[in-house]
Amino acid sequence: MSDTRPEMKPYVAAIHAYVPGRSAGKDGKPLVKLSANENPLGTSPAALAAREAAPAPHRYPDPDSTSLRATIGKVHGLDPALVVCGTGSDELLNLAAQGFAGPGDEVLFSRYSFAVYDIAARRCGATPVEVPDKDYAADVDALLAAVSERTRVAFLANPNNPTGTYLPAAEVARLHAGLPANVLFVLDQAYAEYLPDGEDDGGLALAAANENVLVTRTFSKIHGLAGERIGWATGAPHLVDALNRIRGPFNVTLAGQAAAEAALGDADFVRASRDHNAKERARFVAAVEALGNHGLRAVPSEANFVMVLFEGAVSAEAALAAIADAGYAVRHLPGQGLGHALRITVGTAEQMDAIAAALRALCESAQ
Ligand code: PMP
Repeated sequence: MSDTRPEMKPYVAAIHAYVPGRSAGKDGKPLVKLSANENPLGTSPAALAAREAAPAPHRYPDPDSTSLRATIGKVHGLDPALVVCGTGSDELLNLAAQGFAGPGDEVLFSRYSFAVYDIAARRCGATPVEVPDKDYAADVDALLAAVSERTRVAFLANPNNPTGTYLPAAEVARLHAGLPANVLFVLDQAYAEYLPDGEDDGGLALAAANENVLVTRTFSKIHGLAGERIGWATGAPHLVDALNRIRGPFNVTLAGQAAAEAALGDADFVRASRDHNAKERARFVAAVEALGNHGLRAVPSEANFVMVLFEGAVSAEAALAAIADAGYAVRHLPGQGLGHALRITVGTAEQMDAIAAALRALCESAQ
């Protein structure tokens, strides 16, 4: 091997590439995907129509997503100048780490949280610091105890992926209050729209009132636009300024900008998606709880998925195989220390019934 080939940076070589959930069975047969927390109701018809009507793609999109940011500002009561759009919120999470952390710095996050935080830290040469959880939820005391002089960024997903757990506003405020003012607190609200009416973790208010809070949101979940890759972030002017300096200049497509703007205007679709999720999630959790004597347990979820723990004779691997035999792909995350769990996206009523039936049959056959 030549010794003159380009050398991968050691901190890049240390990254485990993000592995998306599989969507084919052992025989290559396609499975119905309940592994990526997508919207089982699809996409708002208004967003689909706007996407179709978007200008022809030989033109670049508006580099500043001006109209979309204005609409986000209107809907959420934010100054559009303090909103930045990204190629999914993934891009913005990465930019937040890149803008505020580098070699020698530390990036904090809880165990069992979103896999991109570790990658975001490493790819800018910073050191990821994974903090122990408390029964699958972020532990504010443990996070604060892990802060060092080198901490530059702290990520919190709320609700959290892959566990679905949620920290109420008082806990989020306590975490923020305990962080040094020079630590950027990134509050990832990818699943915020699934919270019950009136429930709010206070993130947007914190971002408006402090210089070290960035909130990120996505159009991939409740708005059913995962394939278009659109997210947004808001925070103090110097935070937004940093992200704007390092983001891709045309980072949201023409069709994506149009679709996202229309999606925000379709409150009926958002409500239907939230109601469907609450109903089917509760039904599925009850079905899992009925298998509690077989060691199955559902982690309390405020998101559009449920993490099921397998703490008895039935293993997560066996459940993954049984669910695949029934025709469904769900998420197994052994690489994240979750070999004993499956994360199952809330699908249609029929899909959730089929998965519950597969789990029931597996438990009965294991007796
Ligand atoms: N944050 C969390 C917690 C997520 O679960 C996801 C999607 N899996 C994202 C951010 C990224 O979503 P997107 O890039 O599609 O906006």
